[in-house]
Amino acid sequence: MPDAVATPILVVDDNEAERYYVSRVLTRAGFEVQEAENGLDALHLAESGQPALITLDIRLPDVSGLEVCRRLKQNPVTRDIPVLHISASFTSPDNKAEGLDGGADGYLTHPVDATELVATVRALLRSRQAEVLVRAAAREWTTTFDLIGDAVCLTGPDGSVVRCNAAFSRLVGRPYTDIIGRPLTEVVPPLGPRAVEGPASPASVRLGDRHFRVSVDAGPPDLESGSRAWVLGDITARQQHEDALRRSEEEAQARLREIEAVYSSAPVGLCVLDRDLRYVRINARMAEMIGRPAEACLGRTVAETTPTLAGMLVPRFQELLDTGTPVYNLEIRGTTDAQPGVERVWVATWLPLRDAEGKVAGINVAAEEVTETRRLQEKLMEAHRLEAVGRLAGGVAHETNNQMTVVLGCAGFVLRHPTLPGSLRSDVEQIRQAAERTARITAQLLAYGRRQHLQPEVVDLDTVTDRLRSFLMRALGDRSTLQILPGSMGRRVKADVGQIEQMLLNLTLNARDAMTEPGTLTIRTSVVTVPPGASLPTQDDELRPGEYVSLVVADTGNGMTPSTLRRAFEPFFTTKGPGKGTGLGLSMVYGLVKQSGGYIRAESEPGRGTRIEIFLPTVDGPTPAVTLPPTGAGGAGSAYVLVVEDDPLVRSVVARELAGHGYRVAEAPNGHAALERLSQSSEQFDLLITDLAMPRMDGRELAERVAEIRPELPILFISGHPDEAARRALVEADRPYLQKPFTAEELLGRLEEMLRRVR
Ligand code: ADP
Ligand code: MG
Repeated sequence: MPDAVATPILVVDDNEAERYYVSRVLTRAGFEVQEAENGLDALHLAESGQPALITLDIRLPDVSGLEVCRRLKQNPVTRDIPVLHISASFTSPDNKAEGLDGGADGYLTHPVDATELVATVRALLRSRQAEVLVRAAAREWTTTFDLIGDAVCLTGPDGSVVRCNAAFSRLVGRPYTDIIGRPLTEVVPPLGPRAVEGPASPASVRLGDRHFRVSVDAGPPDLESGSRAWVLGDITARQQHEDALRRSEEEAQARLREIEAVYSSAPVGLCVLDRDLRYVRINARMAEMIGRPAEACLGRTVAETTPTLAGMLVPRFQELLDTGTPVYNLEIRGTTDAQPGVERVWVATWLPLRDAEGKVAGINVAAEEVTETRRLQEKLMEAHRLEAVGRLAGGVAHETNNQMTVVLGCAGFVLRHPTLPGSLRSDVEQIRQAAERTARITAQLLAYGRRQHLQPEVVDLDTVTDRLRSFLMRALGDRSTLQILPGSMGRRVKADVGQIEQMLLNLTLNARDAMTEPGTLTIRTSVVTVPPGASLPTQDDELRPGEYVSLVVADTGNGMTPSTLRRAFEPFFTTKGPGKGTGLGLSMVYGLVKQSGGYIRAESEPGRGTRIEIFLPTVDGPTPAVTLPPTGAGGAGSAYVLVVEDDPLVRSVVARELAGHGYRVAEAPNGHAALERLSQSSEQFDLLITDLAMPRMDGRELAERVAEIRPELPILFISGHPDEAARRALVEADRPYLQKPFTAEELLGRLEEMLRRVR
């Protein structure tokens, strides 16, 4: 044991004998000894020599032993040195108590037994030693405690901080001394009262811009019950990392959702197929095109979902899977369950989908339906074709009409010749008839091109249908019944009667063809009023408010499928096979109705017959055009007529015709010559006849210039083939007009009528 204490024991006693005795006993026991005779020496030596223990007499000459002990215990340098009072004078238990209360560690009285003295010294040194070890351990523990990165503190049962480490002090930004003893909730407010109560403590708290994970523990078992150990681990970096991760994950999710939304609502059909041609993904538009719900397609193959297209699609998909070559803008025609039986057109692009190794794992499909676009394109092409046919027909008709005017006119002159031999008369008659046939074909040609010249009159449709009854019955055939139900109640429409008749014939023939079994064709008229604000859908337009005569032609025939009905009015559309139908019947009807300012509507269903309804606007007032009886040759004989025509043959035929009927006639080969003659005051013309189509100055321009110098002069236009705009302008302006070829009677009748009006 002595080796445990390298430092000496200080023996303080003013009595030499007692000091000697104590020193002897201790020296013998192996201790090194230092001596002091009074209190001040003792204090000095204790401070400088740092003895392991001090034996201290109470009664000293200068400072009392009790006072020395008090000072020793007050001085931090000497405070830990054990003090053993040994007194000869103060030996009562009260004295002992006073000594021990004054800070001494032991109290013995003289005469002291040597063995007891040594044992006491040893015991005090042992406990001193233990204390040193504990202190060292505590220091070590504190150092370790302070080295912990996490903030740690202990709280007592009342929730106040008992101990904390340096990290904790740094965390709360207060010195240690300012923390200890204060309630934890005051030091770290976010931990709150609930945190102190225990289990419901928050798993993490935020202090400033940093995050801490909080763990609370009941604390070491030797602590007072209700004590807690708190560890606040800084998880800011982790939290930031986690936040960033979560944010980027959220962003990715949002982007994915956006892409999903675009994919599913895209107006283009989209799908992904795997190598077995099964749908892995499909959007709403594609499902709609296929005609099945998207869920019903997922996992199914192309052959299962679109059996009607599989024959065409599957081999080409297979080729893409084998070669990896994309397919762009592939046109696909066919049907799907979406509209069974209706042929539709799609344009598709197929791209290979490759896996990580670059092998083709599937196909990305985008498809768009172009049925309507194609239909419109085809319709446009049809329109262009019709336009071309119309131009061709018009060109031919122009030439033919001029020539036929000449042929018919000359044939007329020859036939009227009084001395014509009978044999020649029949030849010329043949020529005339052939020319008339040609003229009729020409008219048809113009009708095909929808450029016929309409001669609208104000008519009562019931009169027209009644007059046609027997003709239509013949056209219908005797197997079926014709029913005419007049109901236009005297309302009149403005229309070209000849064309209306042609229209009724076309509709009747269509009904005849459709009624393979005996049936009934009904022609009914009625008055329809569309009130302001209302409208009625028709083939291509809304019926505008107003009063109309409705003409219905309804049969009980085979009817039309929706697709036939859709195309029935298209020119050249026919279901009747080569040589049987021209496909121009309904388009003529349509063209005529439109040209007459009317509307048309068709309803039909297979097996349930067809109903075609035509609306023509009613006109107010009585019929203005009263046909006057011809007055015969010479009736206007004194009139002076100027004929302007660039074709010399036509010009001379017209002139001869007029001259033959008593007119005075002058001729001009073009507009300029005509203007020159008209401006001469000596020439008093009563009427001007002019061709419409002439080089340099055409008929209309001539008419305008004439109006400047002779505004009252009546003008009759003649033409073989007016262009549409010119024709419409004439009709709208109500200018007199005669279509070539015309007969002598037509020409003379027209002239007389015009002259009568002027007079
Ligand atoms: P075409 O009679 O020469 O075929 P149209 O233009 O008159 O030409 O008619 C076109 C097509 O419309 C016909 O081929 C037919 O398929 C259909 N169609 C017209 N009228 C009727 C009807 N009354 N009943 C059934 N189908 C009709
Ligand atoms: Mg027809």
